[in-house]
Amino acid sequence: MQRRKFLEVTSLSTAGIATSTMIACQDPKSGSEVAVQKEINPIVIATWDVPNATSKAWSVLQNGGNSLDAVEQGVMIEEADVNNQSVGKGGRPDRDGQVSCDACIMDKAGNCGSVVYLQNVVHAISVARKVMEDTPHVMLAGNGAELFAYEKGFPKEDLLIDKSKKEWEAWLETKEYKPVINIENHDTIGMLAIDKNGDLSGACTTSGMAYKLKGRVGDSPIIGAGLFVDNEIGGATATGVGEEVVKTVGSFLIVELMRQGMSPQQACEEGVRRIVAKNPELDFQVGFIAINKQGLTGGYCIQPGFTYRVYSPEGHINHPSGSHIS
Ligand code: ASP
Repeated sequence: MQRRKFLEVTSLSTAGIATSTMIACQDPKSGSEVAVQKEINPIVIATWDVPNATSKAWSVLQNGGNSLDAVEQGVMIEEADVNNQSVGKGGRPDRDGQVSCDACIMDKAGNCGSVVYLQNVVHAISVARKVMEDTPHVMLAGNGAELFAYEKGFPKEDLLIDKSKKEWEAWLETKEYKPVINIENHDTIGMLAIDKNGDLSGACTTSGMAYKLKGRVGDSPIIGAGLFVDNEIGGATATGVGEEVVKTVGSFLIVELMRQGMSPQQACEEGVRRIVAKNPELDFQVGFIAINKQGLTGGYCIQPGFTYRVYSPEGHINHPSGSHIS
């Protein structure tokens, strides 16, 4: 394919959920560009094994909802789930015992909203969406983000649950700050979806690395690092040690690699390779997932153990990601 410009058409399939789209392809005989009709099925992909979140997003899409609502409502499930100790309520605190959350969201038009160091609000992703939709800004931080959330009607809530508090108190005994690969520390929920119109959106939400320095912000709320969506090409999102993802602007890189012709899988592998090349000691985890406009997906990480969930007409599957280290 020479060019990935997509002309939307409105023909719905009999299932009422797939859409056909005209894509520009190169005719192998003449070499000229021809328009080919391709059916686009809605699809959801998320970092880690979060079946409740992907089910929620899928049900939004099945009911004809758009991809922005799907990703927001999908990740909200994890933000509200106290058993997930890496996002929203129940998230692990910083080294001073305070929970702070980061999130960002991006729509089909390239609009985006983000909150960093947001405290006392469960649904950071929805605050990020309000930043995107109700302000001329992209990012709000700290106390400003929190006050904005209350202005918008979000309730104030203590995010620190007993279990996370006890674990933090145990950690205080050694105060050893060392990211643990795949266990406990990483679990950012990044989600990408394509709706029946073939439009892409993405969301990314986290309470960040456990026991981080107060004020530390990772990749997850940084557009281009933790998340990037280009409705002409595809989207990507990240989990793992945010500092390494920021340094390579990982999600943007992956989308750009897809623009240059790589598949989502190849692009995720190259995104990981760029990080690996700069780090002789690979004692941390980074994982990427990606989707292209045609609904192909991919995922890749540094250390074994990362998985991603895909919900599509083909099923609801937890994929083990390939990894640089086997
Ligand atoms: N990416 C997140 C951060 O650096 C952490 C994670 O995925 O667990 O804040």
